[in-house]
Amino acid sequence: MTEASPMAGRDALEKPVKGLDVARIREDFPILAREVYGKPLVYLDNAATSQKPRQVIEALVRYYEHYNANIHRAIHCLGEEATAAYEEARAKVARFINAPSPECIVFTRNTTEAINLVTYTWGRANVGPDSEVLLTHLEHHSNIIPWQRLTAEKGASLRYIGLTEQQTLDLDGLENLMDARTRILGVTHVSNALGTINPVQKLAAEAHRNGAIVLVDGAQSVPHMPVDVQAMDCDFFAFSGHKMLGPTGVGVLYARPELLEEMEPFLGGGEMIKRVTLEDATWNDVPWKFEAGTPNIADVIGLGAAIDYLNDLGMENVRVHEMEITEYALRRIRQMEEVIIYGPPDSADRGGVISFNYPDLHPHDVGTVLDRHGVAIRAGHHCNQPLMRCLGVSGTARASFYVYNTLEEVDVLVDALGQARAFFSNDTN
Ligand code: PLP
Repeated sequence: MTEASPMAGRDALEKPVKGLDVARIREDFPILAREVYGKPLVYLDNAATSQKPRQVIEALVRYYEHYNANIHRAIHCLGEEATAAYEEARAKVARFINAPSPECIVFTRNTTEAINLVTYTWGRANVGPDSEVLLTHLEHHSNIIPWQRLTAEKGASLRYIGLTEQQTLDLDGLENLMDARTRILGVTHVSNALGTINPVQKLAAEAHRNGAIVLVDGAQSVPHMPVDVQAMDCDFFAFSGHKMLGPTGVGVLYARPELLEEMEPFLGGGEMIKRVTLEDATWNDVPWKFEAGTPNIADVIGLGAAIDYLNDLGMENVRVHEMEITEYALRRIRQMEEVIIYGPPDSADRGGVISFNYPDLHPHDVGTVLDRHGVAIRAGHHCNQPLMRCLGVSGTARASFYVYNTLEEVDVLVDALGQARAFFSNDTN
């Protein structure tokens, strides 16, 4: 194992990395100034959730202090301001992923709810006993369980695209993967467990050639790279605000407008109706047909502020920065004897996620030692139990990077990994 360079105090964290002015960015994130067990926090659990800049926190405070009101119904100034801010956030989301209009954007609680919305509405109407749903071995549980439940209810079949030895999707014979029975392909844009970037545009073209539609899970792509749902030509696209500098409790479902028009509502109640009698009701226009009850107004507005922040950085720059950090981290971790790294070898083929293991150590043990060094990573199955089974492990340790991470923090990670190795090697019990 090579010697890791120790972190020379907080100044070392401020070194700019190509692509972004990280020192300036870090000043926007109050939490990054804190210590954990007396060590500077090195937050490398961004695939689970990101930290929030002051600009997002202030947008939430401003809403609650200045114009808190319910939306779409109040005949007063505060209600109008809140409605305008909420709908402006929808327009920002649409522009951010190049959706053709804000009406294609439905606010949900998170990616999970967005996918469940699709299985409960589109799925129940379009999947039957002769249908097949095609997923991949790289899916998060939130893009597996809703489809398992739907196909079990409908007596439909569920199939998965497997992996190559490089842990990319096995697309050999792509033209034979789908047929007329395939109703939908559900595929993650970027794997949260391995970082693998999937060729979603190519997969969407193949699905459409077979008359199937495509749902892309964008939870790990929208925060980290430019995304264009029209260029991708997907039919549904789901993601979460909390992984992209925004608050928890807000997610997004993008859908092609004609699909939203033909789909039944997901939840029933206020806001999603036009006219109600004692016997029946007619539905509101899209997207409000899918937003029953009082929505998460403050956090939607907070997501709008997060998008402003990311736009100011530039998503191309975000991607360049993460590739540089990932490349450096791959190089450093590869120099460590014993450590097994999962996922594609080249940083161009992966997002800012690195999963790894010491063959003889449980990832939870490694994560616990890292925590004592101030380094926050995720350890476990990452909500990808079937994938872990494919890899022949119960879990992995995972470091995931974002706009405020530095090369020096990678050094701290590597140093702490060496300490974990030493700690357990000395453990004679
Ligand atoms: N899909 C992927 C690829 C994810 O990484 C995650 C969360 O880690 C999800 C879906 C679920 O996101 P949420 O918990 O915000 O619904």
